[in-house]
Amino acid sequence: MLEMLIEKLELAGYVPDTNFVLHDVDEELKQGMLYSHSEKLAIAFGLISTPEGTPLRITKNLRVCGDCHTFIKFVSAIAKRLIIVRDANRFHHFEEGACSCGDCWALKPSLTTRMRIGKLYFESS
Ligand SMILES: [Zn+2]
Ligand SMILES: [Zn+2]
Repeated sequence: MLEMLIEKLELAGYVPDTNFVLHDVDEELKQGMLYSHSEKLAIAFGLISTPEGTPLRITKNLRVCGDCHTFIKFVSAIAKRLIIVRDANRFHHFEEGACSCGDCWALKPSLTTRMRIGKLYFESS
């Protein structure tokens, strides 16, 4: 299920942001680590276990990482769900691809555009 979801997300232009995990592991492994973040699994599980249109509520006792934040924004747009995440700092209301926090939580705000062709990633600021 999560893999299917990720495929859809990647078609929609989601690129896993591997800057948020360790730098000394190879790319495949890093992506694997990102996809194993508990909030992503919680959301994938929530999507299959609740009727369409049901808002999803997730509580996390740490800050949501940047990649999960992006992931959830995409999911809210693709699955058309309201997703509410309570993390250590605030509530995040994800709806139609945007978050109520306006991304102001970000550690390093990035105006980078990312593009992916096959296995290659391009970045430009
Ligand atoms: Zn995460
Ligand atoms: Zn947010």
